[in-house]
Amino acid sequence: MKASIFDAEKLEARRKEHQLQPFRIKQIYHEIFKNSVIDFQEMTALSKEMRDSLSENFSIVPFKLKEQQESPDTTKFLFELEDGNVIESVIMFHYHEIIEWSKEYKKGFTTLVDGKKLNRLTLCVSSQVGCSVGCIFCVTGKLGLLKNLDVQTIIGQVLYANNYLKEKLGKKEDNSRYMIRNIVFMGMGEPLLNYDNVKKSIHYMLDQNGFSLSRRHITISTSGIIPGIQKMIDDNLEVMLALSLHAPNQELRSELIPTITKMYTLDKLLAQVDEYTEKTGRKIFYEYIMIKDKTDKPELAYELIDLLLARPVHSHINLIPYNENPAIDLEEPSRNKIMKFKEILEKGGVTVTVRDTLGRGVKGACGQLGYEKVYEHRDEIKATGKNLRVLKK
Ligand code: SF4
Repeated sequence: MKASIFDAEKLEARRKEHQLQPFRIKQIYHEIFKNSVIDFQEMTALSKEMRDSLSENFSIVPFKLKEQQESPDTTKFLFELEDGNVIESVIMFHYHEIIEWSKEYKKGFTTLVDGKKLNRLTLCVSSQVGCSVGCIFCVTGKLGLLKNLDVQTIIGQVLYANNYLKEKLGKKEDNSRYMIRNIVFMGMGEPLLNYDNVKKSIHYMLDQNGFSLSRRHITISTSGIIPGIQKMIDDNLEVMLALSLHAPNQELRSELIPTITKMYTLDKLLAQVDEYTEKTGRKIFYEYIMIKDKTDKPELAYELIDLLLARPVHSHINLIPYNENPAIDLEEPSRNKIMKFKEILEKGGVTVTVRDTLGRGVKGACGQLGYEKVYEHRDEIKATGKNLRVLKK
C-alpha cells in the first residue's frame, strides 16, 4: 500500500534520498492544492526520476472513481477505496439569475457557464462509510457504520473535485481556476463521530498553503452529538454548525433519530448548541426534514417557533423536502403543505428557506447517499428493520 503524500516524514525521507532541495516539497503541495494536480506525472517541474519515485511510493487521492453521474446542477462521484468500500461526494453548482450587469459586476458574478452565471461551488463530503446514527428517513443510515474515513480520504474528495472542475470548466476570464469554495460535511456519516479526522481535515481546508478556505465556508452538519459540539468549542474550530433538528419536541425527535436521542436529549442538545453560538458568535443553521403526516403538521410549526425564538440569536431553519425512495416507507408532503408550514414559521418571526432539491437527479441529495446498495436489499431491510451491516453479519 502506498503512503499518503501528506505523510510529511516519509516524503522528507524520499526527498533526501533524491538529494532534492527542501523547496521541492512546497512545490509538490502547491501543485496539489493550488493547481489541482492529482497525478504526480503532471508535475513537470520535477525530474522524471522523482515523478516515477513519487508515483510508485505515494498516493494523492487514496481511491479511484467508480462511477460519476452528472445533472445540470450537480455531479455525484462514487469512489472506491483501497479496501473495496465505497463513498460518495457531490458537487453542487449554484447559479445566479442573470441580473443587471453593474450589480453582477459588484457582486463578482462575472463568469458564464453554459449561458448561466456560476455563483458558488459547494462540495458535500463524506466523513464515514455508512453511518451508525440510523435516522429512520436516511438511506445511508440503512448501511450501518462500516468505517471512519482518514484525513487523506476526506481531503482527497476535495482534491478530486477541484481536478474535475479544472478539466470540466477550464479557467476563468481572469485566468484563475474554478475551485470548491464551500465544503459541507453532509455526505455519508456523522462527522462528529469521526471528530479527530474531521478536525485534521479542516486544518488542510483552512491552511493558506492548503485549500485556503474561510471558516465561514465550512459547515459541519450534525444529528446532535453533544460531546462533539463541546470539542468544537474546546478546539476553537469556529466553523459553521448545522443541526439536524427535524422535530420540535423530544418525542418526535426520538422517533426519527432513535439511536442518540435518549442520551442526547433535545433540552441538553439545545443548551449545548446555544453555548456554541455564545462562544463562537456563529449563527446556527437548523435543518428540518419535511415528511408527510409526520413532521409537516401545522401544530409542529407553532412549536418550532417557540423553540427557535427562545435561542440566544436569531435562528435560520432550512426545510428539507423528504426524498422518497423504495427502501423506506415515508413520503414527501405536497408542495402546498410545505409552503403553508413555511408561512406559519415566517409569520411567527423565524427566517426560513425551503432547501432546493439539488442532487435529486443523481440520487445525491440529502439522505440518499448509498442509495444503490440499500436498494438491492430494500425488502430485507424493510422486513427486519435492521441495517445492512447487521444483516450481512
Ligand atoms: S441523516 Fe446523517 S446522521 Fe442520520 S443516518 Fe443519515 S448520515 Fe447518519
